[in-house]
Amino acid sequence: MGAIYVDTEIQRATINQDECVECGTCFRGMSQEHLNPTMVRTVRKLARMFRFRFEPEPDVCPTAAFVMNELEMPRLIRQIFSDPVVEHKSTGIKGRGTEEVKTNDVNPRVTEGEVGYTIEFGRPGVGVRFRDIEEMAMELARLGVHFEAKNPITHLMTDTATGKLRDDILGEKILSAIIEIKTTLDLVEEVLETVERVNLRIDTVTAVGISTRCDGRGDETRLAGLLEELGYGAERAKTNMGLGRSTNLQAA
Ligand code: SF4
Repeated sequence: MGAIYVDTEIQRATINQDECVECGTCFRGMSQEHLNPTMVRTVRKLARMFRFRFEPEPDVCPTAAFVMNELEMPRLIRQIFSDPVVEHKSTGIKGRGTEEVKTNDVNPRVTEGEVGYTIEFGRPGVGVRFRDIEEMAMELARLGVHFEAKNPITHLMTDTATGKLRDDILGEKILSAIIEIKTTLDLVEEVLETVERVNLRIDTVTAVGISTRCDGRGDETRLAGLLEELGYGAERAKTNMGLGRSTNLQAA
């Protein structure tokens, strides 16, 4: 996230806490020798002077300088969405906390005649604040879209009819998140136009995935044509073959 910078006044690397998304990558990337910082700086200066190589690589901190913050809400939400080893309690899934339509054959989120969308914010390395996610969600809610229940962003909504998120998290920054919605075919144009329009005024990057369910013969005749008409070249990116079987009937 570019959150680590050298503070020129103190001549030390420092973390900008407002930009840090608590992903833990810097912490996991440290080597664990716990070397003395004064000694390391001296060796690095000598290495530079005599042009020999210093091990470990200079950008891997060998002094265990970082410690993970003790986090409480609302800041804790940064870690939940950004640290790939932390599970979302609302869905039991790590990372962005959603299966999306990847398990649609056993958990049919999108059925025939429906269109599913994933609106993904913040990747790669840009991040996103919840207030920008809320802005998109509220604009989409005005179209009457259905927000996916098994999605951590939906869990943070105080009202799924308006797309409003919890006030206490709006200023928090995270690495990435996904809004999941579905509509009928007649709303595709409006949804895509809304995403494009809102994307221009929020401070992040947005990627849209779109999905549907094929008929019994494996064909899909309506959505692809519609996307072509709207100027989007529709290629099948991922095909769920329908071979999945639920082994956890309780969760399903
Ligand atoms: S926790 Fe992540 S965002 Fe924060 S300083 Fe470390 S690597 Fe950067």
